[in-house]
Amino acid sequence: MSNMQFSDEFDFENRITDTSEIPADAAEGDNPLRPKNLDEYIGQEKAKENLRVFIEAAKIRNETLDHVLLYGPPGLGKTTLAGIIANELGVSCRITSGPAIEKPGDLAALLTNLNEGDVLFIDEIHRMSRAVEEVLYPSMEDFAIDIITGKGQMAASYHLPLPHFTLVGATTRAGQLTAPLRDRFGVVLRLELYTPEELGQIVTRSAGILGIEIDNDGALEIASRSRGTPRIANRMLKRVRDFAQVMSDGVITCETARTALDRLEIDELGLDQNDRRMLEAIIKYYNGGPVGLETLAAAIGEEAVTIEDVYEPYLLQIGFLSRTPRGRCITAEGCRHLGYDFPKGTVIGSATQPNLFGN
Ligand code: ADP
Repeated sequence: MSNMQFSDEFDFENRITDTSEIPADAAEGDNPLRPKNLDEYIGQEKAKENLRVFIEAAKIRNETLDHVLLYGPPGLGKTTLAGIIANELGVSCRITSGPAIEKPGDLAALLTNLNEGDVLFIDEIHRMSRAVEEVLYPSMEDFAIDIITGKGQMAASYHLPLPHFTLVGATTRAGQLTAPLRDRFGVVLRLELYTPEELGQIVTRSAGILGIEIDNDGALEIASRSRGTPRIANRMLKRVRDFAQVMSDGVITCETARTALDRLEIDELGLDQNDRRMLEAIIKYYNGGPVGLETLAAAIGEEAVTIEDVYEPYLLQIGFLSRTPRGRCITAEGCRHLGYDFPKGTVIGSATQPNLFGN
């Protein structure tokens, strides 16, 4: 199967459509494009309106806000929302991530340093170790932790009260959270991919902050190629600005945006070279699918979690990919977009055997 390994040809590092945060996304540690309050936060109306009520109610009762779990694909605004929650409550926000909290002691140090009412944001909370989780439960519920010192007969247990705080957890996959952890969140909000209109507003807002001139059609062109993700939209805006400066006196029009993004090989639906190669691998080597996630990941030299978290949400949303119990299948529409015939004998969702020999 080694002939299917074309990882060397991939340029995953420099994907403009990569949804993970890179230093260039944040200017000097503080990203000026991040909205600071709920009114500036565009889209996600359902989540936003619910949060507005919960925050208002907590303020009226003079209580801390219940713990909040945010889930959805990367780049949709979970970290931003955690900061907004803190701002709206008028408290500080401490930011950390599941993998960064290595030992229970690390979490204890974080918790004991919080001030009353603070927000603690834990990104990738599904990647926290069990031992750390065990300490987190009582601190979320009773705002106290038990610390044990010494061993055997010398062992002593201390009950340490903590300031009341709001935990905001973010995850790309709510299904991977243990049930006891999930149950301890009073507010669970799912973030959705943004519509092109919402992304157009985000692009226009970001352009204003960065001092970039852009017209409506230019913003919409970038928006419609941003795979429903604000982080990608902002990144594309910065790349298109470079082209605009050379091509059209710095003004981003529909024409400049289109030319720039075509040159960057991002098609009119936002698919880049790597998306197309993954879909092509399914067509060429697996006759349209189904192909297991791990097999597909090995074939394109990518991690299965990256396919699940980064590539798939958008391809599923636009109906180019379908997930079946036996693996991933490309749809007739996906084939058409790439200029291929739909492979004969591919029945999506059926028990059709993958045809590895292409006949
Ligand atoms: P996540 O934590 O979900 O990966 P972030 O909160 O880091 O995503 O958001 C990525 C970037 O997208 C932020 O820098 C912010 O500028 C922008 N962004 C996200 N959501 C919105 C929104 N609703 N309105 C405007 N900009 C947004």
